[in-house]
Amino acid sequence: MFLKPRNVPLELKALRSLDLRMRLSPEDKQHYLNLEKGFDGEVAFDLWLVELKPKCLILADLLLEQNYSTFQIDTLVLFKETIHLFKVKNFAGDFDIKDDKWSLLSGEEIKNPLHQLNRSEALFKQLLRKHLKISFPVKAHLVFVNPHFTLYNASPEMPIIFPSQINRFIQKLNGRPSNITQKHLQIGKQLVARHQTDSPFSRLPDYNFSQLQKGISCVQCASWMNAEERKMVCHVCSRIEDNETAIMRHVEEFKILFPNQKIATNTILDWCGGAVSSKKVQRVLAKNFNRVNHGKASYYVD
Ligand SMILES: [Zn+2]
Repeated sequence: MFLKPRNVPLELKALRSLDLRMRLSPEDKQHYLNLEKGFDGEVAFDLWLVELKPKCLILADLLLEQNYSTFQIDTLVLFKETIHLFKVKNFAGDFDIKDDKWSLLSGEEIKNPLHQLNRSEALFKQLLRKHLKISFPVKAHLVFVNPHFTLYNASPEMPIIFPSQINRFIQKLNGRPSNITQKHLQIGKQLVARHQTDSPFSRLPDYNFSQLQKGISCVQCASWMNAEERKMVCHVCSRIEDNETAIMRHVEEFKILFPNQKIATNTILDWCGGAVSSKKVQRVLAKNFNRVNHGKASYYVD
């Protein structure tokens, strides 16, 4: 059971919008694509975890702090006797390890993911001991989910699960009876309460409202949608969406990119590229938010 489900990270949501509405620099574009790929890998591993039969608690994407150090955990699974901590990588291609250094076969060096795993494991164990006041066995794993991944010079002692081993790993866990109690639920809830909200804005490229392309984008294929009678239509993938859903989706997008700006009818109308009428925008905002002020000075809050 997922006690904390996986959500699309704020940074990825913002970059998806910016990639659609402006030209990203090659570095920003690469960073965005890496995030997208990493997220796909985590979701792929979640689908494996759904196959787990013993009772357990799954916590996805935790950002925790211990001793003034922030660390991220891709996935935690609480079993009766053990907490499994996973770092998930969606690397594709041929990699090599030499003297603790990881690199692509082309020679380009990458951060050693085992160091990242060890750091998270150590900080997590400290957090359990010092703040939750429990000692619980923790097993850390580095999981590679992409079938097109090869790693030369890995040793069997390394806490690595390769793509060809995931199925067997899940089967092995399925062979062990587990029963979670109130105590496990309590630990899980305490960890969720300690989860911090990331503020990705320092990592985003510079942008402003006037520079971004306006319009209603298709949730399925990211093309621009057209207004037709009472609905929005995508002529690329044929997706149809009612106006209210489309407008609300764009209000949410606006809030992510401009968290400090007021939600006003004209702003959202502009953001949607004039694809819907001002009356419709006003009606949707009035229905879903609370209005502050009247006339031209009015805006909407949650
Ligand atoms: Zn579409």
